[in-house]
Amino acid sequence: MHPARSTALARLRARRHLKHARPGELLWLFDLDNTLHDCSKGIFRAIDGAMAQAVASTLQLPMDQANKVRKDYWRRYGATVIGMVRHHGVNPHRFLAMSHDFNVPELVHAETGLFQSLNRLPGRKVLLTNAPLDYARQVLETLKIQHLFEGVWAIDHMHLQGTMKPKPSLALMRQIRAQLGMPAGQIILVEDTLRNLKAARHAGMRTVHMYHPATPFSAAHKGRNLYVNLRVNSVRELAARAHAMNTRGTAGRA
Ligand SMILES: [Mg+2]
Repeated sequence: MHPARSTALARLRARRHLKHARPGELLWLFDLDNTLHDCSKGIFRAIDGAMAQAVASTLQLPMDQANKVRKDYWRRYGATVIGMVRHHGVNPHRFLAMSHDFNVPELVHAETGLFQSLNRLPGRKVLLTNAPLDYARQVLETLKIQHLFEGVWAIDHMHLQGTMKPKPSLALMRQIRAQLGMPAGQIILVEDTLRNLKAARHAGMRTVHMYHPATPFSAAHKGRNLYVNLRVNSVRELAARAHAMNTRGTAGRA
């Protein structure tokens, strides 16, 4: 096991054993990109560029073809790395490290008062991202919000029976629910990507759609979907409306 992965999981598990969920206690699973920070200002471009470069050098392709491969696998599997592992047998950790090899802090942009808004949310918080662990930690540290999260669940941890299973895998959602050891109705996924929210809802969790116009396919979903409990535009708005989620069970759309 990758040492960083081992540490993050141990931290998450250790906390779970130390602190049992109280009746009605909420656990917020936060996505990272375009949920806690705005990737449209440069990070997506940097990731796309670095990932196309990683595809090009791994498969010995010119950049235009590498870009096509990158987009094709992203559409088919929800993450380019899955296609690269499945069809070309690449080492996923090395590929993801190459894809996020840029100066992260200088490209991070977020809403003002993010720390205060997150801190106002009652309940525990865990990060759940399809991004690699090292990148996720850099973003959290740049935003100075790392201490608000009791654990980080990154793509490094998303393996089931030897296969990479990132969001929106239903099996992943069920594994997370089981590992957190609390009723699904007390777990809330906050995300900008609708298909991930749909999977969480199928696993019994509740859902908050963090609408971001730069999220791929977001323009096709102007309204709120049936599997979305609450739709917000910022963490600040979520903090102001969190009482709408502070009910037990999976009912209660707001
Ligand atoms: Mg996202």
